[in-house]
Amino acid sequence: MSVQPLGTLARTHTCGALTAADAGQTVVLLAWVHRVRDLGGVMFFDLRDRYGITQVVVRDEALSDVAKRLRPEYVVGITGRVDLRAKEAVNPKIQTGAIEVAATDIRLLNDAKTPPFPINEDTPVSEEQRLRYRYLDLRRQRLQGNMILRHKTTFEVRRYFDEQNFLEIETPILTKSTPEGARDYLVPSRVHPGEFFALPQSPQIFKQILMIAGMDRYFQIAKCFRDEDLRADRQPEFTQVDLEICFATENLVFATLEPLMGRLMALVGREAPKTFPRMPYSEAIARYGSDKPDLRPGMELTALSEAFAASSFSVFRGAIDAGGEVRGFVVPNGARYSRKDLDNLIEEVKQLGGAGLVWARQAEGAIQSPALKAAGEETIRRALELAGAGPADLLLMAAGPHGPTARLLGQLRLNIAKRENLLDPNRFEFLWVVDFPMFDWLEDEKRWEFMHHPFTAPLESDAGRLESDPGSVRARAYDMVLNGSEIGGGSIRIHDQRLQKLIFKLLGMSDDEAKARFGFFVDALEFGTPPHGGIALGLDRIVAILAGEQSIREVIAFPKTAQAVDLMSGAPSTVDPKQLRELHIRTE
Ligand code: ASP
Repeated sequence: MSVQPLGTLARTHTCGALTAADAGQTVVLLAWVHRVRDLGGVMFFDLRDRYGITQVVVRDEALSDVAKRLRPEYVVGITGRVDLRAKEAVNPKIQTGAIEVAATDIRLLNDAKTPPFPINEDTPVSEEQRLRYRYLDLRRQRLQGNMILRHKTTFEVRRYFDEQNFLEIETPILTKSTPEGARDYLVPSRVHPGEFFALPQSPQIFKQILMIAGMDRYFQIAKCFRDEDLRADRQPEFTQVDLEICFATENLVFATLEPLMGRLMALVGREAPKTFPRMPYSEAIARYGSDKPDLRPGMELTALSEAFAASSFSVFRGAIDAGGEVRGFVVPNGARYSRKDLDNLIEEVKQLGGAGLVWARQAEGAIQSPALKAAGEETIRRALELAGAGPADLLLMAAGPHGPTARLLGQLRLNIAKRENLLDPNRFEFLWVVDFPMFDWLEDEKRWEFMHHPFTAPLESDAGRLESDPGSVRARAYDMVLNGSEIGGGSIRIHDQRLQKLIFKLLGMSDDEAKARFGFFVDALEFGTPPHGGIALGLDRIVAILAGEQSIREVIAFPKTAQAVDLMSGAPSTVDPKQLRELHIRTE
C-alpha cells in the first residue's frame, strides 16, 4: 500500500486535547500509531503525539483493510467522531481517557520500519542503542518529558532574569582561549594560516567586558566547550546559565539566585528555601570531607584526636604527632554490621586509597573495636562519646593529614549513605560553599594554580598575604551546592588591573604571556572597570535533578558518549583532504 499525501488535511486537535466536552464533534488527528489491538470485528489503536494519547476505534467495514495494515510508528491522519467511552472503558490515567474517536477516514501518511526498540513501552534498552537511534528514543515518553521540562526551565530562567533587568547577550563561539582549567577545542582559521580560534570554555572574559561596557546586568543560556577526559557525567559541550552583575557583592549574587531556584523548583511542584545556608570551604572539608557536601544523611565528621593524643595506640598517635589528626563519623544503626560487613568497609577504604579504617561500637555495654587492646577501653569510650555514638551506632575512624583524611572519610560517608538509603530523593538541601582557597599548589610543576579562574578576587582581609603566603589566601569564590552536586560556581572579580597583573604573575605567567593571552582584557580593565561579580549554573545538571534523572545525558537532546562520540551522527569523523589542505593542516 502506498502512502498518501497530507493534502489539505489539517489537524483540529492534538492527541492530548479531547475530553468528554468534545463528544459529538468531528475531528482530525495527525499522529503516530502507538499501539494496535485487533479484536476481530473491531480494531482499536492508540495515536500518539507530544501532547498525549488518544484511542481510535475502527468499526466501519470499509476502513478495515487500511486499518489492518497499521503498525506502531506509522504516521496517520484520522478523521472521526468523538464518542464517550462506556463507563467501564474510561481510563482515568490519561487526559483523553473519557473519549475515543470513531474513525470515518484513515489516511496513511507514512509507514515505518520496525523500530530497534519499542517506543510504546519503557523497556530497558542499552544506552548505545538509545544514542544511535536518538530520534526514536526522543519519541519515548521519558525523553519527551525531559525535553519539555528543559524548555520550561530555560523559559523560566529567561522570564526571571528579564524581570530582574538582565539583558541576554550572545558572546562569540569562535573566540580566544578562556581559562577555566580545561583543554580548549581549537578551530583552525582558513584565512589566517597557522592561526586558531578556541571554542569558549565559558563566556567569562566577555561577560566581564560587558560589565566594563556598562551593560549592568547580563545573562545568557550559554554553550561551553571543554576538552576534558570525560569523567563520569561530563559532556564536551554543555550549557550554563551564565550571569554577571555590576557592583555585585556576594549578598547581591546570592539574593539574585535564591529566588530563581525557588521558581525552578516550583516547575516540578517543589520548594526551595528562601535563603540558603553558607559554609566556608574549610568547614565543608572538616565536617563533610567534601567541598560539595550532601547534607541529607547527617553523619558529620568529628575531630577525635583528643581521645587518642595521649593513648598507647601508636598508629593513631603517630599520625597526630606527625601533624595529622584522627577523624571519624557515626553510622546510625551501624552496630548491627557483621564482621564480614566491617571487613568489607576496611577493604573499601583501601580501594579509596586510604591506609586503613578503625571501627568501634558499644554492644550491650561492652566496647568492641579492633583497636581496643592497643588503645585501651577508656580511649575508645572517649572517642565514641566525642562522636556522639549511641548503643545502636557504629563509629568509623581514620588518621592522617587533615585534608586527605577528611576527604577519604567523606567519600566513605557518601558510599554508606547511599547503601543505607539515607539520600532521600524527596529532600533538596541547598548550600553556598564560600571562601575557597585562592590557589592550589601543583607539586609536579612547583607552582600555584588558580582554583576557580584567574579573574577571581581575593578576600579583602587576605589580600595582603598574596605574595608572602599565597596558600593561605581565600578567594571571593562561591559554589551553589544541591544534594552533593555542584550546580553553580562564581566569584566576585578583580576590577583593578594592577591586582589582575599581580595574579597573573603569581600564577607564573610572564608579562609577555599575559599580554598575548589576555592583553585585550587587561587593556579594557584600564578604562573605568566597575566592581562586578557573577556566577554560572550548570543547566544540564539542574534539569537532571528536577527531572529526577541521574545522568545529564537524559536531559540533553543529542548528547555524546563518555568517549566524546556522537553515535547518531558519527562525529567526530575524518574529513576530505581538500578541506585539510585549505586549513593548512597535515595529519600523519
Ligand atoms: N566562568 C565560570 C565557570 O564557568 C563561572 C563564573 O565565574 O561566573 O565556572
